[in-house]
Amino acid sequence: MRFHVLTLFPEMVEQAMNTSILGRAIGQGKISLKTTDIRDYAANKHNKVDDTPYGGGAGMVMQAPPVYGAYEAVTEEIGHTPRVIYLTPQGKVFHQKMAEEFAKEEDLVFLCGHYEGIDERVLDEIVTDYVSIGDYVLTGGEMPAMVMMDAIARLVPGVLHNETSAEFESFQDNLLEYPQYSRPEIWHGKRVPEVLLSGHHANIDKWRREQSILRTARWRPDLLEKARLTSKEKEFLKKHQTEIQ
Ligand code: SAM
Repeated sequence: MRFHVLTLFPEMVEQAMNTSILGRAIGQGKISLKTTDIRDYAANKHNKVDDTPYGGGAGMVMQAPPVYGAYEAVTEEIGHTPRVIYLTPQGKVFHQKMAEEFAKEEDLVFLCGHYEGIDERVLDEIVTDYVSIGDYVLTGGEMPAMVMMDAIARLVPGVLHNETSAEFESFQDNLLEYPQYSRPEIWHGKRVPEVLLSGHHANIDKWRREQSILRTARWRPDLLEKARLTSKEKEFLKKHQTEIQ
């Protein structure tokens, strides 16, 4: 997976992405990250890339030519037309299934906006996917791009050393993950659930599945509606209705 980020703040993206698990994955060549500074494609000596909006109104708009120049530099380098994701609060809200779909691509280009956004004409020409990370407005697209790259990268084989850890977690089968515990066995008087110490894997799996169901019912009932539960599990859920409130 090769990530390409078109941005006004390349150092912000590089610094964050080159740490922790993603930094290691980049070091090992499992994923790569290349930032392109949109300012390098400004056609004026002050590297100005924004101007006032036609029709008036507050703020500035990122102009089409430098954004297009940065995009062309990437496509020329990789030799094909990639998916281009414009991070925008107006896009489809990002979720795990989208991350799985994007993880299949060889190259992904992230276009980060600033100010009031980017001239619509260049968006029309180059963007394939409009994606938001949630219903709130941020100052720029860099953090949303990093959120997406993090979620996508961990699905790339070899990025997580424990390969199973991306398999059984929240949003699989529309359920949230079960609660996790580690040493010590007793902390602040609270014991780790007995079943987890039993070494009985079938019972542990059953307990975890039930906890996932209860947790999803409590915190994300919207997800649970889409989950496929067996009739026994539905029965279990009914019995534990009082624990959910
Ligand atoms: N005027 C724009 C609007 O109302 O849709 C918002 C522009 S915002 C201040 C500046 C940039 O931040 C956007 O171009 C986008 O790249 C990024 N951004 C802000 N909120 C975002 C979100 N929730 N998801 C993805 N990108 C976001």
